[in-house]
Amino acid sequence: MGLLSLFSKSFSHGVHPAHHKGQTEDLAIQRVPFGKRYVMPLGQHIGAPAIAVVSKGQSVRRGELIAKPGGFISTALHSPVTGTVTEITPQRTLDGALKEAIVIEADPYSTQRLETTPPTSWEKLSLETFIKVIQQAGIVGMGGAAFPSHVKYSIPEGVQIDDLLVNGAECEPFLTNDHRLMVERPQAVIEGTEILRQKLGAKRACIGIEQNKPEAIEALREQLAQQPERPITLSALEVKYPQGAEKMLVKSVYGKEIPAGQLPRDIGVAVNNVGTIVAIADLFETGSPLIERVVTVSGPGVDQPANLLVPLGTSVRDVLRFSGALNDKTREIIMGGPMMGFPIASLDVPILKGSSGILAFTETETARPPEYTCIRCGRCLEACPYFLNPSRLALLSRNRRYEETTGYHVMDCVECGACSYSCPSNIPIAQLIRTAKDNLRQHPVQDAA
Ligand code: SF4
Ligand code: SF4
Repeated sequence: MGLLSLFSKSFSHGVHPAHHKGQTEDLAIQRVPFGKRYVMPLGQHIGAPAIAVVSKGQSVRRGELIAKPGGFISTALHSPVTGTVTEITPQRTLDGALKEAIVIEADPYSTQRLETTPPTSWEKLSLETFIKVIQQAGIVGMGGAAFPSHVKYSIPEGVQIDDLLVNGAECEPFLTNDHRLMVERPQAVIEGTEILRQKLGAKRACIGIEQNKPEAIEALREQLAQQPERPITLSALEVKYPQGAEKMLVKSVYGKEIPAGQLPRDIGVAVNNVGTIVAIADLFETGSPLIERVVTVSGPGVDQPANLLVPLGTSVRDVLRFSGALNDKTREIIMGGPMMGFPIASLDVPILKGSSGILAFTETETARPPEYTCIRCGRCLEACPYFLNPSRLALLSRNRRYEETTGYHVMDCVECGACSYSCPSNIPIAQLIRTAKDNLRQHPVQDAA
């Protein structure tokens, strides 16, 4: 096994933004030195926030549990450093909202050595125990959404997972953190893939990678050649956005459509990001819970782009200080990729489990071009990988006719931004759709029956 598909695979629709990965794709991951203050918000993903199990003034060790899961859709939090809990109070987070967080001051004299014990050998764990171990280790989807991984692994009775699909597409422009993990830690990628494949009972696994990452493909191919007994293949994918969206990836690799309202597991597929897979490998190798992640720092507004291994809770300011300060042309900082990321209002917000990138943009990229009326060119329809009608949805949202957007399947929109990118009239289509979705979540449509 371990074969690479020679033909690049793809899905219908989508767009081709310039990928801008040249700034960082060859930059090896560097560890950010430990700083002073770490902010760990209790809620880092959808679902219930974690519940603090430490109190103010308490000493904590690096990797120690500081908050337990607050429910099933919730994960544990661990201290990213050895130090002292100084406060448990609301702190500003990425979206500008104040959220309850545990603040830890690092011990300046600590070596910050991680003293963890690996959990029992993964082979011996039942799926049920494996799922609990993953939840207790705080592992989430590392591609951006930070959805708790153990929820994905809780397969309903009667559902059989045949295929594990590892998402190494990294289709967002500028980001190269997954790319560097695949280049530098191919063994961990393969090990984590095999652990998860066996635990989910999947017959095979496939790692999908966009073709603009030949070094990553080669590193994994070499690794697989040494372990031919493992039923893991690589699939080279067309460079197209949003190739890394779950349903697009499944379509590209297996040629299968996932019907609206269904999940990959409904057709026997489990999809996991490369970063998550490496976190699982690390957990069983060293016992390390999720306390750090790789972050790409890039964009025309930074003088020294980098791929950095950052303890969770580090402030964006501290990351940028280490990687070379922003240049004076910077006008906006985006957390995540430019297509799906969010601008941040303060450099003091912390790096969270889902923070894949810090991108700094100048006036050139952030200038908002004038918006014109819709010319019904249909480009947004051609761009939408979910076959929605973005122009119609945007118009309804603009006119606050939110209820009517449900008739156009507004909730199927993944907010990928391909429609906005393609619009010659510069209509902020995806933002308007997001507004409609937010509104519908707050005021669900009542069933007339
Ligand atoms: S309508 Fe939604 S899913 Fe379709 S292109 Fe726009 S943002 Fe993406
Ligand atoms: S791409 Fe823009 S201008 Fe063209 S149909 Fe869609 S909303 Fe209208």
